[in-house]
Amino acid sequence: MSDNDGGREYRYARHLSIDVVGGAGQERINAADVLVVGAGGLGSPVISYLGAAGVGTLHIVDPDVLENSNLQRQVIHSEQDIGRPKVESAREFVKSLNSEVEVVTHEVEFGPENAESLVEDRDLVVDCTDNFQARYLINDACTLTDVPFVHGAVYRLEGQVSTFGTQDDGPCYRCLFAEAPPEEATPDCEVNGVLSPLPGTIGTMEATEAIKTIVGFGDSLDGRLLVYDGEDMTTDEVPVRRDPDCPVCGDSEIESLADIEYEHPFSIE
Ligand SMILES: [Zn+2]
Repeated sequence: MSDNDGGREYRYARHLSIDVVGGAGQERINAADVLVVGAGGLGSPVISYLGAAGVGTLHIVDPDVLENSNLQRQVIHSEQDIGRPKVESAREFVKSLNSEVEVVTHEVEFGPENAESLVEDRDLVVDCTDNFQARYLINDACTLTDVPFVHGAVYRLEGQVSTFGTQDDGPCYRCLFAEAPPEEATPDCEVNGVLSPLPGTIGTMEATEAIKTIVGFGDSLDGRLLVYDGEDMTTDEVPVRRDPDCPVCGDSEIESLADIEYEHPFSIE
């Protein structure tokens, strides 16, 4: 039996039989063009499930090569990939899972100089970074180009997920936290550590929000921040409201990324 025996209808049968997805929803998924920023801990489940779901085109941005210490949570990569660009092993993973998906790799840092061009023609962006600077840049580029994005972040045993940009007068990430904290105040996974399955949990929630946004069903996390605590196994929800004084989505002077100052470096989880 070949991989595609039975064709698309068979392959995506479990989507076709969910009333909120169905044939029309699956067509939207197959036509979608999505950018995933980061092919690490959060990127692994996002790339896996969007690939399995049949997203038409997956753009993957990550400048890093795989390190031994990544394998504890970045499950689309393997031991033999150590030293190779993560975008390359990510592409091979998707291609072996679903050869229909077009994978476009960008072995570059997602930075102020390329953010708008990477984001502007996409249907959706998924934030799989671990760095506040990159997170604000994704927010600003997506808000200024009207591209919705799914946000995810992990820290030790805690994580958070939200969705932005699906409604005309909805909030952006800066409405929640106007400014990025200084870099020294926000050590990444390397310093704080992260429990192996945590990015799996949060990334899988991001993939769910991504598919909901693409198809257009359900109650989006737009306007809500979902906070997950794996230590107590609890979830909480924080309402997110648009701030009229927000520097990016409010009535401000900012019209392009050139109007905002960003700090380097950007790192990706
Ligand atoms: Zn805002």
